[in-house]
Amino acid sequence: MTTLQHWINNAEYSGDDRTGNIYNPATGEVARQVALASKATTEAAIAAAHAAFPGWRDTSLARRTAIMFKFRELLTERKGELAAIITAEHGKVLDDALGEVARGLEVVELACNAPYLLKGEFSENASTGVDVKSMRQPVGVSAIISPFNFPAMVPLWFFPVAIAAGNTVVLKPSEKDPSAANWMAQLFAEAGLPEGVLNVVHGDKESVDTLLTDSRVASVSFVGSTPIAQYVYSTGTANGKRVQAFGGAKNHMLVLPDADLDLAADMAVNAGFGAAGERCMAISVVVALDTIADELVAKIAERAKTLRVGDGTRGCDMGPLITGEHRDKVAGYIEAGIEAGATLALDGRTGATDADGSGFFLHPTIFDNVQTDMSIYTDEIFGPVLSVVRVSSFNEGIDLINASPYGNGTAIFTNDGGAARRFEHEIQVGMVGVNVPIPVPVGYHSFGGWKASLFGDQHAYGPEGFKFFTRNKVVTKRWLDPSHGGINLGFPQND
Ligand code: NAD
Repeated sequence: MTTLQHWINNAEYSGDDRTGNIYNPATGEVARQVALASKATTEAAIAAAHAAFPGWRDTSLARRTAIMFKFRELLTERKGELAAIITAEHGKVLDDALGEVARGLEVVELACNAPYLLKGEFSENASTGVDVKSMRQPVGVSAIISPFNFPAMVPLWFFPVAIAAGNTVVLKPSEKDPSAANWMAQLFAEAGLPEGVLNVVHGDKESVDTLLTDSRVASVSFVGSTPIAQYVYSTGTANGKRVQAFGGAKNHMLVLPDADLDLAADMAVNAGFGAAGERCMAISVVVALDTIADELVAKIAERAKTLRVGDGTRGCDMGPLITGEHRDKVAGYIEAGIEAGATLALDGRTGATDADGSGFFLHPTIFDNVQTDMSIYTDEIFGPVLSVVRVSSFNEGIDLINASPYGNGTAIFTNDGGAARRFEHEIQVGMVGVNVPIPVPVGYHSFGGWKASLFGDQHAYGPEGFKFFTRNKVVTKRWLDPSHGGINLGFPQND
């Protein structure tokens, strides 16, 4: 069985004895192993990035951009290969994997605009004969730690921006589906990226802790569950690093009585069960006004029943969950929901599956009459389980969503412009959809939630991404002539 190795200085790097399993989630079999980095291996990657930083920082914008354009070209040509790797290790269906790559490509395209986005500001004659300019410079070695659910897109949210801005990177992808990261780093090397600019280490807590504490690492971009995000934020900042740590989510979709219920049901199914619910922007709670709840639940259940579940390479709608352990955890929530008294409108614990072997499958599950103290409501389940909470008014719906500790994404379904506008204004969530169930911003805006969905204040990609990966420097200058002579210890004033 092969073992996936690290990628340091544009070459494979091996030497670790510890390994982890990479499964094919559709068959349940171990497909290969992945090396798990020791502290020493992680330090080797940091050292490579640290050594490459001065040269890359001083590489012209023209040259950096030319390499980024080439990477974009290669990724566009070969996106099918990357999608196949994602499906093989994550399990999501091929179309969905291609969609993930397309959304990542948007950020590569943004990074091709780096010269424009990195332009500074200039004030001529701020004081007599004095000019002031501000410029943005790279922060240095940037660590990126990513989750299993988007093995290509989430790394692509960060490394193209970091690299275009002149930083060097150590990427530690999820050890559950790590091959996409190596593939992308190798492709970037083919595009002409110099040694040490993008390094990949595979590993777990040992590697993450090294990245969080090593003094050569300047910034940390983390995406994962809320408890680990909190840990990464507090440890990284305590060690003097700039940190953005994106956490978990529980995304609500509020459906008002004037909405087109057929369209709303389509969207709830797409956003609830796409990628088997393993999306940080998945809809996991439908908030329905009492007057339409019966009809809406019936329409959602009728559609969810028709989803074909199976191996993502076979043209089905929904693939398996990432591991057997995670599948069992999600099934445990279904038991807990039944025990707590929620109405099981669709039971996904059994059903026909188009796959070989015994993959990590669950079918779509829908609970109605969910109460806010039930674990199926309070916890992020991260699986194909949709809860319906009934409310008696629009205000009650807004209050419910605002009471959630998470604030990643939310959506309202309505044809009433006034109601939608009030929702946009009052809702305490970072990304809002109006008749759009998964409002992941386009590459030239920025992605980020509020509350327990993000620790740190800069969002990913877009203008905020460039801010995160650069530091502002302001230069005040004049060219001295004899009239500037003389001693004056007063605080400089402008005139
Ligand atoms: P996870 O928190 O288990 O792992 C994320 C990363 O942290 C991985 O690289 C993992 O190796 C590392 N890690 C795991 N345990 C660690 C520990 N004890 N110490 C240090 N590092 C550790 O998350 P996951 O299961 O891979 O991904 C799913 C989670 O990610 C969900 O909660 C989902 O909502 C969240 N997510 C959030 C966003 C967002 O933008 N807010 C996007 C995607 C996923």
